Amino acid sequence: MFCKNCGKEIDDKAAICIYCGVPTTQNEKPQQQETTNTLAVVGFVLSFFIALAGLICSIIGYKHAPKLGGKGKGLALAGIIISVISMVIAFLYCILYFVFLYLVGTGGVALASII
Ligand SMILES: [Zn+2]
Repeated sequence: MFCKNCGKEIDDKAAICIYCGVPTTQNEKPQQQETTNTLAVVGFVLSFFIALAGLICSIIGYKHAPKLGGKGKGLALAGIIISVISMVIAFLYCILYFVFLYLVGTGGVALASII
């Protein structure tokens, strides 16, 4: 290759030009590569507290994982599963609560007390 500064031919592997000392880096700025799948981590943590937000972050993190060489894929998947489970539990709790209210409202107090 040729030096961008002085134009002299230099070694392809040379980090700096041996004639003028100017760096020969072809890529001006090395691409900032993400080291962790932040969304997967955030989604995993959120899945314990705010299931819906955790689910959304985990899904995005899961889709983002291949770009990071599969980083955080397992974590994102765990976040999705935990979010879904906590939402199902919350949903069942709601149903149980309304069933309870219904039974109390209809005078089925004896039945409700069993639950
Ligand atoms: Zn040079």
